[in-house]
Amino acid sequence: MKIQSASARLYRVPLAQPVSDAAHGIQTHFELIAVRVTDEDGVQGLGLTYTGGSGGLAIVSALEGGLLESLVGKDADLIELCWRDMWRAMHYVGQGGVVSFAISAIDVALWDIKGKRAQMPLWRLLGGHDGHVRCYAGGIDLNFSIEELLAQSEAFRENGFRAIKMKVGRPSLREDIERIEAMREELGEQFPLMVDANMAWSRMNALRAAKAFNPYGLTWLEEPVEPRDYASHASIAECGLVPIAAGENLRNFSEFKQLIDTGRIGYAEPDVTNCGGVTGFAKIARYAESHSAITTSHGLHDLSIHLLAAFPGTDFLEVHGYSLDAFLSRPLRIVDGYAEAPNTSGHGIELDWQKLERHAVQG
Ligand SMILES: [Mg+2]
Repeated sequence: MKIQSASARLYRVPLAQPVSDAAHGIQTHFELIAVRVTDEDGVQGLGLTYTGGSGGLAIVSALEGGLLESLVGKDADLIELCWRDMWRAMHYVGQGGVVSFAISAIDVALWDIKGKRAQMPLWRLLGGHDGHVRCYAGGIDLNFSIEELLAQSEAFRENGFRAIKMKVGRPSLREDIERIEAMREELGEQFPLMVDANMAWSRMNALRAAKAFNPYGLTWLEEPVEPRDYASHASIAECGLVPIAAGENLRNFSEFKQLIDTGRIGYAEPDVTNCGGVTGFAKIARYAESHSAITTSHGLHDLSIHLLAAFPGTDFLEVHGYSLDAFLSRPLRIVDGYAEAPNTSGHGIELDWQKLERHAVQG
């Protein structure tokens, strides 16, 4: 079925409280970019991407500067062809960055249309592995006091979580250790606890941290160093002190291939909204599985749950702090550490457009 129209809109969504990590600093809002693609039968697909607070206008500009228009008249069902055409059209200025966010949002919308037309939930359409998905709460809490950190962790557990990630990368390693120690004491030895450094360290400091954190039995250490410094990832991983997770700042398959092959990571962490969409994520997850790395997710959990439910060799859906719950008719529910992938057609995300419109950025 041919694509009739495609449009994009930018929103600035305020966060309930200011949060912080080592890369972004204090965050008060995030940007959401919604792409709507409609086919000639009137079936509409919704694509989403987001930013940590800036860059959204550049993504909309890439979309409105040609990508959306180039879709009109194409067969919505031939997603790989649409994807390759977009990649080729933008390859000289793209291969990552803003362009990957724009292509991902369109790709997600096309998969949503495909799911709706087939009357299948996205995760089943992609193959279908297990709709019962283990989750973790992704705290964005580097600015929190230890008391606030523990209060947050109690709230997470009350809301059904049985795994938690906290931020590290405070000015001194001693502070990070004290915070992890307090969390481990509170949660008990068996509770899965991850830490995320958001690229805070040099290789030397990352190695020091991996050694210092070793007694606390962490599930993983995330983004210890610059995302494309594959050799440093390998040095840290090969110490065997803690599994390394990374990938939220990578934007294409070949970068993930290097991270897995050279970087020796334990967990690949693609974000479906900026790694090339569902099409990009699927390529990464399949490669990771055949190279003994586990695929986890980053960002928009209402969408990512489909990818984790679709493929074997995946674990731990990140339930991200940038929540869309206030705009959703069916927010994800976590029960005893797990969420159920939706069984509605497509990805099943239905936004309250009226409520969201208050946060629209007029361009
Ligand atoms: Mg992270």
